[in-house]
Amino acid sequence: MAIELPEARTLATQMNEVLPGKVIARLHVSDECASLIRQGFVNVRPADVTGKVIGAVTSQGKWIFLKLEPDAYLLFALETGGKILFHRSPQSVPERLNLRFDLSDGSALSVRIVGWGFAKAVLERELKAQRYPGHLGLSPLDAEEFTPARFSALLDETPKQVIKQVLTDQRRIAGIGNGYAQEILFQARIHPKRRVADLTEGDKKRLYDTIREVLSEALRLGGRDSECDVYDVAGRYRPALAARAEGKPCPRCGTPIEKLRVLGGASYVCPNCQE
Ligand SMILES: [Zn+2]
Repeated sequence: MAIELPEARTLATQMNEVLPGKVIARLHVSDECASLIRQGFVNVRPADVTGKVIGAVTSQGKWIFLKLEPDAYLLFALETGGKILFHRSPQSVPERLNLRFDLSDGSALSVRIVGWGFAKAVLERELKAQRYPGHLGLSPLDAEEFTPARFSALLDETPKQVIKQVLTDQRRIAGIGNGYAQEILFQARIHPKRRVADLTEGDKKRLYDTIREVLSEALRLGGRDSECDVYDVAGRYRPALAARAEGKPCPRCGTPIEKLRVLGGASYVCPNCQE
């Protein structure tokens, strides 16, 4: 699984309650980071952060932006899973981690990346030049930005793509990954491999409403039950199609759920409900 929009927003909101004003006293980078550093996913050195005062913590899409006063950001995106945890005292810091930020008041922030994900320190003026997250698309929870008309226009630009590809393209819509795409398409009764050009007006309307409903409900419940918040408490949103649902009965019609590979990721679908 992974940190997608509802989880990233939950983590950022919680961090913003406790971190602003604290000073980073020390950064510990564990040996587990070596390959992620080599591949460019992790790029944060003690010199980038030591002595910096933490400002506001925000999120956009799957990304968490932790302001380092006055002119830099720490960026996190856990693409295939992991945890970002706040520890009031160093005793509760887990042994297995990738990064540990010791704060001057004795608290700490630990980051554990499972699979792959990003942790980078970037100057504010270089933010837009970042391949990720320099060009994030519409925020689906922002009703003024993500309107039915904008969604429809975005679909009109990509008639030949399959719908899952459009939903998970971070430059078009920011924050939906494999997990929520699967859930949204199941709830909207649309097959992930349907071509955008083949969607009816009714399909598009239902899909728009479902994107908004699923993500706002997941945010309200603190993210999915497979992910944890900054205090290591699991979210309360239970997707209808759990991970490893293959062969289990569809919660709506009882047909065995099938596993497909779509764009390099597994997608579970009900062959009866999702034409
Ligand atoms: Zn079904």
